[in-house]
Amino acid sequence: MKTKLCPSCKKEFSVMYRVKVDSSKNWYFLCKKCTEININGNQFYIYGGTWKG
Ligand SMILES: [Zn+2]
Repeated sequence: MKTKLCPSCKKEFSVMYRVKVDSSKNWYFLCKKCTEININGNQFYIYGGTWKG
């Protein structure tokens, strides 16, 4: 099973969420926990799919 490193909490996960969380137009892969933290009240949040390793 493949994993990706979550740039927010620096841990590896086999399921990541592809999201936009700022105005930069960049996509980020965040873990479930960090996605929930980052989208809370976030006007820039766009969900782009789920990545599974
Ligand atoms: Zn994380």
